Amino acid sequence: MRRLLLWMAGNRWLRERVPRLWFARRAVRRFMPGEDAEAAIAAAQSFQVHGISTLLTRLGENVTRLDEADAVAEHYLGLIGDVAERKLDGEVSVKLTQLGLDLEVDRTLAHASRLAARAAESGKTLWLDMEGSAYVEQTVAFYERLKADHPNAGLCVQAYLKRTAADLQRLLPLGPEIRLVKGAYAEPASIAYQARRDVDANFLALAVAMLEAHRAGKRIRIGLGTHDVRLIEQVAEHAAALGLPKSAFEVQMLYGIRMDQQRRLAAEGYLVRDLIAYGEAWYPWYMRRLAERPANVLFALRQIIS
Ligand SMILES: Cc1cc2nc3c(=O)[nH]c(=O)nc-3n(C[C@H](O)[C@H](O)[C@H](O)COP(=O)(O)OP(=O)(O)OC[C@H]3O[C@@H](n4cnc5c(N)ncnc54)[C@H](O)[C@@H]3O)c2cc1C
Repeated sequence: MRRLLLWMAGNRWLRERVPRLWFARRAVRRFMPGEDAEAAIAAAQSFQVHGISTLLTRLGENVTRLDEADAVAEHYLGLIGDVAERKLDGEVSVKLTQLGLDLEVDRTLAHASRLAARAAESGKTLWLDMEGSAYVEQTVAFYERLKADHPNAGLCVQAYLKRTAADLQRLLPLGPEIRLVKGAYAEPASIAYQARRDVDANFLALAVAMLEAHRAGKRIRIGLGTHDVRLIEQVAEHAAALGLPKSAFEVQMLYGIRMDQQRRLAAEGYLVRDLIAYGEAWYPWYMRRLAERPANVLFALRQIIS
């Protein structure tokens, strides 16, 4: 089921047609508050009341024209400004292929640099998502270039990839801001752990390595992008054993998923950030959410028939 859903996520024919179906638009509302930035900002305001900060992302990837990438960059510049103006504790996360990585790397770097500079004005981080394995080396190298001029740049890394431990060691001297996730794409066994227990074990090992670096006085911001509460507890135990406070790491979850846990963790004093996605190009992203928990397919079907 997971493989099928991930195949569907990458299928161009479906990508063009499914979003036009009214019932699909209705089902996706579970994972996003709306298609425009205003809906996302309104949701961010309501989270802030519960002590939960936010990450905002406009859905879209693999743009095929430079003017599309330019428009995305302009959109994010405006969004970062709006978030600062409303005094929201919100940060922005972008996909490099949405900023034109497939087309022109230097222009993508110029876009990301402007966004990072704008985010720095309000003391915020600009996050880079991690995409499929074809982009990983390029994204890590891009992050190194961006980070050289913009200390407030953050990067997502994926625990299912066997290379990530080495990537982390490579990035540690930069004083990185890292969002660790399990990984959302279909990757082959040659480069990625396939069994859930292996991915979880690597996630824990990577999180502990980051905590130890932090404990040793290295500059690092640690984000755990997961809904796996058991894993979060294990990381929290390691942090406590190292004598680190709850604020040593931040838990990041997606809008609409495990909201009860997000509120509970925030109430218990953990730093919690909710990723709010919005935009019209939600199809591949939504299919990856279904793939993460095939029970969501039943939920989507129920939405259709109710
Ligand atoms: C803030 C954030 C940013 C992310 N950024 C990236 C990125 O840049 N690149 C990337 O490859 N991946 C990214 N991901 C996705 C990530 O890689 C995983 O695919 C996703 O988080 C599901 O894995 P999990 O860690 O929650 O653990 P799982 O083991 O998949 O799930 C743990 C438990 O959480 C619940 N759960 C998980 N997913 C869902 C869901 N979709 N619907 C309902 N319940 C669910 C279930 O109860 C499940 O038992 C991001 C995730 C988060 C939270």
